Amino acid sequence: MNSKILSTILTIVLMITVSPNISAQLTLERLDSANRANNADQTQRDPINLIDNVWWVGHSEVGAFLITTPEGHILMDPTSPEQVHWVVEAIVKAGFHLGDIKYIINSHPHEEHVGGLAALQRLLPEAKIIASKETAAILASGGKTDFRNIIYPEGARFFEPVKVDGTIGHLEELTLGGTTLVAHITGGHTPGTTTWSMKVNDNGKEYNAVYMGGMSASGVERGPLLKNELYPAIAEDFANSFAHLKSLTCDVYLYARASSIELDKKLGQVGKQAVNPFVDPEGCAWYIEYYEKRYLKQLNEEKAAMGIR
Ligand SMILES: [Zn+2]
Repeated sequence: MNSKILSTILTIVLMITVSPNISAQLTLERLDSANRANNADQTQRDPINLIDNVWWVGHSEVGAFLITTPEGHILMDPTSPEQVHWVVEAIVKAGFHLGDIKYIINSHPHEEHVGGLAALQRLLPEAKIIASKETAAILASGGKTDFRNIIYPEGARFFEPVKVDGTIGHLEELTLGGTTLVAHITGGHTPGTTTWSMKVNDNGKEYNAVYMGGMSASGVERGPLLKNELYPAIAEDFANSFAHLKSLTCDVYLYARASSIELDKKLGQVGKQAVNPFVDPEGCAWYIEYYEKRYLKQLNEEKAAMGIR
């Protein structure tokens, strides 16, 4: 077994021994609480080579990913301003050079995923920040134009504004060093939420990896699906996004939450089975269905409250 994976497993075993919170994350009901993960609850993790050229360089719960290529690297979701230095440390610990990061992309512009972008932009001025045009607008406002921060100011999480270097549209590609990432605009959680897909190889087989953009409906208080004047197309976007996600081949699913992708459980399976545990098409289908059901439940509750059949 790769010594890095082994040391990571040892770290996780130690964490489970000392932290009761970690095992609580391993239940099926984990996703709701995971989506309210606070920055303050995060602890630092060692980098993990999940599959092929994809690394987890995020924290105990909130994720960041590094996709490495011979011509430089792509970083996804730099996390919060308080913890972006952990991402930087993880990249260095994994043996990669920060100066080789060519692109920084994201799933969606919520503070725990993109709050550290501005600091990273100062640290890595050569790296190009690429985002959907809707995400670019929210990034430029520091989250002030995000409907959730306006509708539910009690829970607003702003961040230092960032100007992107380029935008990417639905099914457009970002290629670097033989790796091609396809952008899928899967709006709903935010307008312009972006799912990314790419091919990965493991043990001589090619798989399709899908990096989910974030699919949770935020609840009627924070993100009404009907009569949402700040995001009138929200329900339609969610519906289209679920239909699109279901049309994709998804062998490996990734998301910027450890519990959502059962990171710790899968790490525990490394080396115990022939196939890389991150190859999990059933888990991917389950993930999409879980969030679609949650979206439909909220939609039906709102319709009932409005007397709409
Ligand atoms: Zn979010």
